[in-house]
Amino acid sequence: MAVKFRDYYEVLGVARNASEADIKKAFRKLARQHHPDVAKNKREAEERFKEINEAYEVLSDPAKRKKYDQLGANWKAGADFRPPPGWESFTGSPFAGAGGRGGGFEFQFGGTGFSDFFEQLFGSMGRGGGVRGRGGFGEEDQAERGRDIEGDILVTLEEAMGGSVRTVAVQHAIGCSQCGGTGRRGRGPCPHCGGTGQMAKTQQYQVKIPAGVTEGQRLRVAGRGEAGAGGGAAGDLYLHVRLAKHPEFEVDGHDLIHELELAPWEAVLGTQVRVPTLGEEVSIKIPPGTPAGQRLRVRGRGLRDRDGKRGDLFVVTRIEVPTRVSDRERDAWEQIARESKFNPRE
Ligand SMILES: [Zn+2]
Repeated sequence: MAVKFRDYYEVLGVARNASEADIKKAFRKLARQHHPDVAKNKREAEERFKEINEAYEVLSDPAKRKKYDQLGANWKAGADFRPPPGWESFTGSPFAGAGGRGGGFEFQFGGTGFSDFFEQLFGSMGRGGGVRGRGGFGEEDQAERGRDIEGDILVTLEEAMGGSVRTVAVQHAIGCSQCGGTGRRGRGPCPHCGGTGQMAKTQQYQVKIPAGVTEGQRLRVAGRGEAGAGGGAAGDLYLHVRLAKHPEFEVDGHDLIHELELAPWEAVLGTQVRVPTLGEEVSIKIPPGTPAGQRLRVRGRGLRDRDGKRGDLFVVTRIEVPTRVSDRERDAWEQIARESKFNPRE
């Protein structure tokens, strides 16, 4: 089961040398279009949204983008991906060489919102997953606790607000029933498992995402890791919460930040505008003389914390300038230029 290469630039429709601003713009446009809450075909939109989110997660983070770019430009989307030699993140798979049998077993997750490609390059997979309660030398028969499995789960801001239940598929390595996990049949390798001693078994679990989860929080699903040996307990499944990027909001703890574009005359004269929230839009007042970068607080419209209390929404103003103006508009601006005593550099 090879991991398929993902072309994140293609997903966002940007060039490989696109600027951070271009990437953000492309993401916002696509995410608005495919956000599961607004799209007509929910299932299709959800798949696209996950792809877009994953691409943006990588390309908007300079360290991740650099790492991704190091793979080179010759990979085609969907091609079987093999990690280049020396990539440390690939050596820690919970299954690589499990039990010292050298089985090249690949780890797969379903329903978490991230592709296996992402998990291998940037995910939590294989970073933890330590073996606990392991016996020392000469104690092979002692009960051994199963390995923990770690992975990421993509949670939308809406889910973080309201909580949800997700189905996650985990592929477990189980001992081959034909050779008892030895990998040998008679004098040759076991044909059933190809000599690895291991077989894959996919199991689905319902995972509860509690309301109020935050970025990086670890959800523990007890006993859903790898099976123990010699009567040892099963390991646990740990899912690291990764909040989905939202086209309208950035997350700061339990507060949300929304960038609001204003026309210069709106900033000068003041206005009333509607801004999005995770629920209904709200109308806010922009006072006359509002500068760029002003933070306006909309109380109680942020994310929920574990006790159900909501953070705030901060609307941060930005002033957009028309790049093209009609003759009449230019006349009006020229009149302002003549009339105004304002000097921004004084
Ligand atoms: Zn076998």
